[in-house]
Amino acid sequence: SSDGATIYEPQKAVVIGAGPVGSLAALYFAKGGWQVTVYELRGDLRNPENRSLNFTKSINLAISERGINGLRTVDPELTESILEEAIPMHGRMIHDKKGRQSSQKYDVHKRFIRSIDRSGLNERLLDELDRMNNVELKFNHSLKSLSLEKNEAVFERRLGSGDYENVRVQADLFIGADGAHSQTRRQMMKYVRLNYSQEYIDSLWCEFTIPPHPETGDFQLDPNHLHIWPRQKFMFIALPNQDRSFTCTLFMPEDMFKDIVGPEALLGFFRKEFPDVVSLAGEENLIGDYLKNQKLPLISLKCNPYHYRNKCVILGDASHAMVPFYGQGMNCGFEDVRVLWEHICNDATLTEALDNYTAERHPDCVVINDLAMNNYVEMRASVTSSSYLLKKHFQEFLYSWFPCFGVRTLYSMISFSNIRYSEVMKRVKRQERVLGAMGTVIMLGATGAAGRIGFDVVIHTNTHVTFTNSAGSAEVGVVKSFSGGQYTIELKNGNHVSVPEG
Ligand code: FAD
Repeated sequence: SSDGATIYEPQKAVVIGAGPVGSLAALYFAKGGWQVTVYELRGDLRNPENRSLNFTKSINLAISERGINGLRTVDPELTESILEEAIPMHGRMIHDKKGRQSSQKYDVHKRFIRSIDRSGLNERLLDELDRMNNVELKFNHSLKSLSLEKNEAVFERRLGSGDYENVRVQADLFIGADGAHSQTRRQMMKYVRLNYSQEYIDSLWCEFTIPPHPETGDFQLDPNHLHIWPRQKFMFIALPNQDRSFTCTLFMPEDMFKDIVGPEALLGFFRKEFPDVVSLAGEENLIGDYLKNQKLPLISLKCNPYHYRNKCVILGDASHAMVPFYGQGMNCGFEDVRVLWEHICNDATLTEALDNYTAERHPDCVVINDLAMNNYVEMRASVTSSSYLLKKHFQEFLYSWFPCFGVRTLYSMISFSNIRYSEVMKRVKRQERVLGAMGTVIMLGATGAAGRIGFDVVIHTNTHVTFTNSAGSAEVGVVKSFSGGQYTIELKNGNHVSVPEG
């Protein structure tokens, strides 16, 4: 139509899965005037006795701009109130084996990601749906089959008695947000030549808790960081919770988990690798968590297309489950919903909207899926390497001092912008070409001013390090110390970078 609104009537949508993505999709469609029914396999997670049902998901997660934008676009007020309960994380705190901590800020412009309680977020969305007249929530319903030519789905409903009954449902559009092992996707494969690939990585994950301080009740670590204990082949991470505890995750190859049999082996492992965690979490908690909590796999999957004609579309993990190392799985799922809704509102027909959705979204989801996989190496190993830190700091330095170059770190564009993932990748490649050419200038500028690091000139602490090129000259930071063959330079943004001699 002339005002850009959809020319087809809002119709009946069935959403399969009431996880975060399905709930958000239901909210978009309901606010857009569609009649929406949500079918969820599990019981209502707002009911305390159902909480333990969702045991395969982490307790908290990192939400960033894309996820927030997905929420904000449909309901700014709800978003604000959800974010009040989230805890800002301004950077990574790296813990070494001696218990020393070093902070790496995420962004020169002080933007941050947030730690949020997964169930809390999901509950808020469900509460919002409950308030709408055109939404019905059906729990204990598992999708069994889809007959898309007849616009029909069959759900298996779990009855109080423990028996099951089949429920037949008609809809104009089926929206599958039923997670990595999506039955909607499996059913859609009967109708469309759907390419599909999946990969399990060799690492499993297991959750632990660092409780609040037993006497003061306060956080035992800085709550405004995502804490990482990178150990090359494995890593331990911790995200803060509202109750001043931290939920921690050990990501480690399966073989190493198998080698840790019994409490003594576990404590021996933690004392060697994460000695500070032993005192923070307490030996009994560590043992209890390790014995009680599952060691769960991590899957990465890609498929194409994400839809069938004007009848069915899959969103979130159902279409692109990724390993969690970029903290983007749910964020990307929320962005899926926003992008889909834009097409529903702006494209001429529903068929066109779904065609265009797959065409736009697939290249983006492939990019973030691959980045998440690559970030596993970055988080457990590269964050400690000086070449990684140098590159990060020089990019940040250019971003803050020479915005005219348009240089932004990959992390900042993924986590703090809504630029399409595929466009981010193009920009990064362009940037690397430019930086490659500029790299010599940067390094020459820096070494010249610092007194030729590693050559015959001894440099002293407090030597100023200057960057010079044709655009001008600016101070990068100050040499703070030299030990063990490493110069430590304090950059203007407060971060420290180690530069090896020579
Ligand atoms: P799900 O959360 O899997 O929800 C699917 C829903 O569908 C479930 O409720 C399920 O019961 C239901 N369902 C399944 N089958 C059926 C059926 N047949 N019929 C009806 N209902 C069905 N993402 C981030 O953005 N930031 C992070 O920091 C982050 N950390 C993570 C840490 C870990 C350890 C893991 C494993 C993942 C992490 N993620 C993170 C990813 C994030 O959890 C997922 O991307 C997100 O949960 C996907 O939401 P979803 O609604 O698509 O799927």
